[in-house]
Amino acid sequence: MLAYTYVKKGLFELREKPEPELSDTRDAIVRITLGSICTSDIHIKHGSVPRAVPGITVGHEMVGIVEQVGSDVHKVRPGDRVAVNVETFCGECFFCRHGYVNNCTDPDGGWALGCRIDGGQAALVRVPHADQGLSLIPENVSDRQALFTGDILATGFWASRISGISEEDTVLIIGAGPTGVCTLLCAMLKRPERIIICEKDPARSDFIRKHYPDVLVTGPDTCREFVMEHSRHGGADVVLEVAGTEETFRLAWECARPNAIVTIVAMYDRPQILPLPDMYGKNLIFKTGGVDGCDCDEILRLISEGKIDTTPLITHTFPLDRIDEAYEIFENRLDGVIKIAITPAGSMESI
Ligand SMILES: [Zn+2]
Ligand SMILES: [Zn+2]
Repeated sequence: MLAYTYVKKGLFELREKPEPELSDTRDAIVRITLGSICTSDIHIKHGSVPRAVPGITVGHEMVGIVEQVGSDVHKVRPGDRVAVNVETFCGECFFCRHGYVNNCTDPDGGWALGCRIDGGQAALVRVPHADQGLSLIPENVSDRQALFTGDILATGFWASRISGISEEDTVLIIGAGPTGVCTLLCAMLKRPERIIICEKDPARSDFIRKHYPDVLVTGPDTCREFVMEHSRHGGADVVLEVAGTEETFRLAWECARPNAIVTIVAMYDRPQILPLPDMYGKNLIFKTGGVDGCDCDEILRLISEGKIDTTPLITHTFPLDRIDEAYEIFENRLDGVIKIAITPAGSMESI
């Protein structure tokens, strides 16, 4: 089968590989019907994910149909439509039992798919711990609706959950990229009084204004003043940092009111500084990321009930055999791209 492969730093390539086989009684093999490209794939390509193993098939955001299951898999059966979780986890260790599945101590625990073991930019993928890593897609939910369940939407859902958002809150979300929008959709479910998005890219700001007219939009240069004007207690009650730059990291704690929760969702490619003397007295609570992707069944239920819709994020579609073109667009942010859906090789659908 064709598999998009991390050859070495700077080089991904479509290669012919053998189809995956069950190697544990808890494994499942899933035939991918729709996949996607994530910013983390680009991080692997650029060599900024040291854990990533050269030679693996990349891709960790996908939905498909179960083809085979091991004898200890009970949740799914061949023929089931499933969303694949970015994280594989045992469900039994200390961290799993507390819902911190990102820190699962199993050798395949945490983000393994498309990083340490073969992922889903291919025809088929082997999913370890399939009872934890696969979620059944409800009948009324399409592949395009379910596509982001296991990764960026799980991230937004987790970020919104750990931030303790209440109905009196002014929530500031920094960054309106794909994960920022997913975070926004999940924050909206908590019905805070006000949500402010800070985004510097005009096209992304327009996307928010067009699709979510109740959300206030500002840019990094005006963010501080804007938040002060639109919050009741001298800053945002909750801040979610989803952009990942030095400037946005600083904005996150500067725009927070005293005693606020600041949740860092973004991945940075270098260390950030907490200037504690400047922050003294603000009594902030910082939460730092690495999604615990254990809410996928609930996310799919919310999609099925029409409460979350991420389909506007899919701006492009390419078949797997043209994935190089898709990466070119996604990596260089060409043509107004937000997210790209990848259909099976040979598929004619292309947007
Ligand atoms: Zn990802
Ligand atoms: Zn575990």
